Amino acid sequence: MRWETDVALAEHTRYRIGGLTPRFGRPETRSALANALKDSHPVRVLGWGANVLVSDAGVNEPVLVLGGEFAHMELGDHWIEAGAAAGLPTLAGEARRSGRADWSFLEAVPGSVGGGLRMNAGSTDTGLWNRVRWAEAMTPEGEVVRLTPQDAHPTYRNVTVADSWVFLGARFDAVPGDAARIDKQHLERRRMKVETQVYDLPSCGSTWKNPGEPWGSAWSIVDRVGMRGARRGGAQITERHANFIANLGDATASDVWWLMAETRRRVKDQIGVDLEPEIRLWGFAPDELAAVGGDE
Ligand SMILES: Cc1cc2nc3c(=O)[nH]c(=O)nc-3n(C[C@H](O)[C@H](O)[C@H](O)COP(=O)(O)OP(=O)(O)OC[C@H]3O[C@@H](n4cnc5c(N)ncnc54)[C@H](O)[C@@H]3O)c2cc1C
Repeated sequence: MRWETDVALAEHTRYRIGGLTPRFGRPETRSALANALKDSHPVRVLGWGANVLVSDAGVNEPVLVLGGEFAHMELGDHWIEAGAAAGLPTLAGEARRSGRADWSFLEAVPGSVGGGLRMNAGSTDTGLWNRVRWAEAMTPEGEVVRLTPQDAHPTYRNVTVADSWVFLGARFDAVPGDAARIDKQHLERRRMKVETQVYDLPSCGSTWKNPGEPWGSAWSIVDRVGMRGARRGGAQITERHANFIANLGDATASDVWWLMAETRRRVKDQIGVDLEPEIRLWGFAPDELAAVGGDE
């Protein structure tokens, strides 16, 4: 694998925002990844960048994006195996086309399988780890570890697997079901997401985690403190969905960060809740992270 120098992460994130990484590599095999990890420590791994806001100053660490053999997908009689670089939409599509039950929760979730495993991506009540039989990850020393859901302790948009471990792929339960019913469920889920969320502008999806009862969903809290539609530079909290912050074209990371910090301050003052970001923030200073409730 060849390292590239001074690569703009804006080109690799869905937000189209973010400064430079000093070194950027695309390992396509396990041995290339193991070498890259031994070569540089720590590194950051990016999937599709659909859940990461990179600061305007960029990051100090090298960044890896998996490709090649990590994009594989294989269909078994009761399972689907997918590499970390395969797309979540491809996985959801494969489950739908092959008539596998209970995969509609993954419809219209942009990203890679690796990012989805790290984030336990999915709907409010079902995450990717609800379907994992086993997943494999590589440690910084290049050792491959096989994990079950019991090892990963999945919770809402989180797992306890060390941030320094790189997911390689997973085998998922995919049990055949009623094809017509499955098709309908996928279409319905997609329609609901596309109608209520924002797919035509760059964003990272839901900015904040839902704080749970008795406060309800994050979007309703953002709305209550008057931040729906708020704009800063090229970034806007969308009118359609108050938990989405869109890049209108020329947003900087500090525009998005400002909207987050202002929302969080108002929510704390007016409702007494500490909002917690669902998106990952890379390359921000500790005081900037504290203002938005982030912890790198
Ligand atoms: C329009 C829109 C709708 C969305 N809807 C949903 C939704 O319904 N449900 C939901 O859960 N999310 C949703 N999201 C967020 C996003 O789709 C998910 O978080 C997805 O899992 C991100 O995958 P990614 O590959 O882009 O991860 P990235 O954004 O690239 O990375 C996210 C995190 O995963 C880590 N990571 C990436 N690859 C690996 C790897 N191979 N090994 C270890 N760590 C890795 C990164 O270091 C980072 O910490 C939405 C986003 C958008 C833009």
